[in-house]
Amino acid sequence: MLSWYFKTNLLVRIIVGLILGVVVGLIMGPQAEIFSPVGDILVRSLKMIVMPVIISTIIVGAGSVTPSQLGKVGAKCMGIYMLTTAFAVVIGLFYGNLFHPGKGLELAAGSVTLAPIPFNETSFWDVLIMVIPTNPFQAIAEGDVLATIFFCISMGIAISILRHSEDERIKNAGDSLFYLFEGLAEVMYIVIGWVLEYVPIGVFALIAVVFGSQGAGAFGPLGMVVCAIYIAFATHVLVVYGGGLLFFGVNPIVFFRKIKTASIAAFVTRTSSGVLPISMEVADKELGVDKGIYSFSLPLGATVNMDGTAIYQGVCALFIGFAIGEPLTFNQQMTIIGTTVLASLGTAGIPGSGAIMLMIVLNSVGLDVTPGSPAALAYAMIFGIDALLDMGRSCTNVTGDLAVTCAIASSENEINRECWSNISK
Ligand code: ASP
Repeated sequence: MLSWYFKTNLLVRIIVGLILGVVVGLIMGPQAEIFSPVGDILVRSLKMIVMPVIISTIIVGAGSVTPSQLGKVGAKCMGIYMLTTAFAVVIGLFYGNLFHPGKGLELAAGSVTLAPIPFNETSFWDVLIMVIPTNPFQAIAEGDVLATIFFCISMGIAISILRHSEDERIKNAGDSLFYLFEGLAEVMYIVIGWVLEYVPIGVFALIAVVFGSQGAGAFGPLGMVVCAIYIAFATHVLVVYGGGLLFFGVNPIVFFRKIKTASIAAFVTRTSSGVLPISMEVADKELGVDKGIYSFSLPLGATVNMDGTAIYQGVCALFIGFAIGEPLTFNQQMTIIGTTVLASLGTAGIPGSGAIMLMIVLNSVGLDVTPGSPAALAYAMIFGIDALLDMGRSCTNVTGDLAVTCAIASSENEINRECWSNISK
């Protein structure tokens, strides 16, 4: 059994874990919760390596290119990330208008009793300003990815300047620091390899718990929302990412085959920041993207690029409007596009954060989500099946980060075509 496990292809093992998880979850129902610690081991192991991976790869990435190159790639990254997010929310709104999820529900205050909703208010500017850490060590310790990226890029640029110094002593100091972080990055890749071996078991447990708690029931009154959202995910991945990759000279079919480990890991763990180590490994080994690009674009994407979340927010806003008998007007839908693109910058790549940010999006079009209001009831219904929706969101988010990274690398000619030569032609 053990030798079968280690000899079998990782993807086959993950798929077996997935199928077994669904079956066992549906059979055991809420009792599948006993597998929770087994799934937690995977999530905790991934979290354990996230910060060291981000720190080492960003510093090495920024330290190995010139500041102007970094600025160029950075601007491209941000531009494309925001553009794909705008496409995503438009696609979400399109399917929401097509399927009319929630129509006829006629929710009124007090008509449904559901789980409590976590209300919290953070202004958009607060989110932006917090990119600058007051204490970088605290940012690292607390897993604040955006603040850590900011600090590490500054450090990487400074190291790159040292390495280009005329003064031999300063140049050596820069090189030593650079090699130290390069060593750390290589060590982390070995640890990622070990964690990957555990992924199929973790997948089984996480899926069993989700399907056990809400599997069959989720396809009741909310079936239409789930369908609209998942069809929109598929459309976005195939049309926007597939089309974009083709435009940048990358074979999308080969691309999707190469990134499947990262996409599946995001699907089951529901965290794009958490699977960063796997995304980086995929970008490096499978896609052959230069470290100078992915070390920067992937952590950035895991925090600011949330296309799956944007789709979900578009469909859900329409659902809530229909459910309370106040369908959103054209102008309200236009506002949603703007707010969603900005809100995605402040959405953390952790489980459930998209559902919290949905409240900001709803507020922007005057949907009152104060406790007890009809909109809050509709929101709470969606919140009840959030795990199911978050799986697709996170998977789309990570696929998007990798697609944009690959497209930019191809446009900059920073991609190792040898990695593709045996299958792409
Ligand atoms: N869980 C998602 C992610 O990590 C974010 C979300 O909740 O939409 O990408």
